[in-house]
Amino acid sequence: MTQPEPTPVTGRPVVLRNGTVLTMDDAGTILPDADVLVVDDRIAAVGPALEVPEGTQEIDARGGIVMPGMIDTHRHMWQTAMRGYGADWTLTQYFVWYYLEHGRKFRPQDVAAGNRLSALESLEAGVTTTVDWSHGLQSVDHAEAAVSALRSVPGRFVLAYGNIQAAPWEWTADPAVRSFLERHRDSADGMLGLQLAFDVTGDPSFPEKAAFEVARDLGLPVTTHAGVWGATNDDGIRLMHEHGFMGPETVYVHAASLSPDSYHRIAATGGSISVSTESEQSAGQGYPPTWQVRRHGIPVSLSMDTSVWWSGDLFSAMRTTLGADRSREHFEAHLKGDTVTQLELRAEDVVRWATRGGAATLGRDDLGSLEAGKKADVVLIKNDASPVSFPVLNPYGHVAFQAQRGDVHTVLVDGRVVKHAHALVDSDLPGVRREIEDTVEHLRSELGEETWVAGMHPDLPDPKLLDNPYQYTDYKSEGTHAAREQVFEEHLANER
Ligand SMILES: [Zn+2]
Repeated sequence: MTQPEPTPVTGRPVVLRNGTVLTMDDAGTILPDADVLVVDDRIAAVGPALEVPEGTQEIDARGGIVMPGMIDTHRHMWQTAMRGYGADWTLTQYFVWYYLEHGRKFRPQDVAAGNRLSALESLEAGVTTTVDWSHGLQSVDHAEAAVSALRSVPGRFVLAYGNIQAAPWEWTADPAVRSFLERHRDSADGMLGLQLAFDVTGDPSFPEKAAFEVARDLGLPVTTHAGVWGATNDDGIRLMHEHGFMGPETVYVHAASLSPDSYHRIAATGGSISVSTESEQSAGQGYPPTWQVRRHGIPVSLSMDTSVWWSGDLFSAMRTTLGADRSREHFEAHLKGDTVTQLELRAEDVVRWATRGGAATLGRDDLGSLEAGKKADVVLIKNDASPVSFPVLNPYGHVAFQAQRGDVHTVLVDGRVVKHAHALVDSDLPGVRREIEDTVEHLRSELGEETWVAGMHPDLPDPKLLDNPYQYTDYKSEGTHAAREQVFEEHLANER
């Protein structure tokens, strides 16, 4: 029996020894049986049998995969207190629930509770940077609560400031909001960045212009839900382009139901697309667009959108994005009578989107790869107790299709070990649980039991069961199992 490894203490160098290292550098270098040395907040060296400073703490990565921390470029973290509630929603239920009926009921402490839980959820899954697409900030108090929650968890975050309860040209004109943004922009330290988050409706008078001007004044990137069926479309992209508000820092979330013209405008101005494949598949923004956007050479990053449906886990995002892209490729070929014999999108591509892609989207050259001098955001995937942990023959394939959050053994953010031996380090999960219980209690009592239950269970559409010409009875099916059983019983009785 080997002794369990002690959890490394903060302030001393750490080396991960003898892992398969996915560096995600430009050349896509994979180093078998290599080490990653972390000193302070940086990666000091990557390579085999590294010499390390005295006092360096060792993590045995043998049999595991060492990769850069993953980056989620769009998640509504404030909604995490409603985890799983909207599993059967479409976008319509989502909009009604949050935008029209109940989003306003979230108090500052409810936003904070959701953010704190979501932040821990990220770290636990090896997501070291998360963009908090925070469109529930109906007051600056809400915004302060959101920030202090993010600051209380040792991950890297970007607050994308938004407010669905007011128009973007209204809330961005509020001096209190502006002063909040200036303050947090000036105190940015690499652990907390800022964006502005709002959508462009396509109204020909382009009222969002004023909000874009505020973003430009403040030097903040804009992130926007674009190409969302029934909500935002090509007109919004065209207006942004014609007014000169599309740039390399602009992030287009979903970008699913857009025409080639919009993709050309995005590609020409250097912006990137944040794909939330699980979301697009269930909620209905449009077909997950990677099969189109990769032909335009548009940079891609991955995101989870909201834990109201899905969990904040980029293994799911990588897997489902490969599936949706390949599914569409096969489908389009079959329509033409063709067969796809070589897949275009590779496992390596989605691992790159989950790491370097996110770093590029956020303009962070210091994140997304394991190279000397970069920030030490590192993930070790290793689970000796799991039959899925070996053999590791194709490391990218292993990450994209075999691994899951429970296999995340160790996570470092900014050189600090935040998860070790499959457990979060120094996290107050019981405290967060109490906060979440309080929020759920608050929302539930505000809504009332009937509304609460109804919100979780949207009406089913009328069943549409086809007549089956191969049935041996002459009854007209009512479409229910019970009806068929009854006919069958009668049939048997007649036989007797
Ligand atoms: Zn979203």
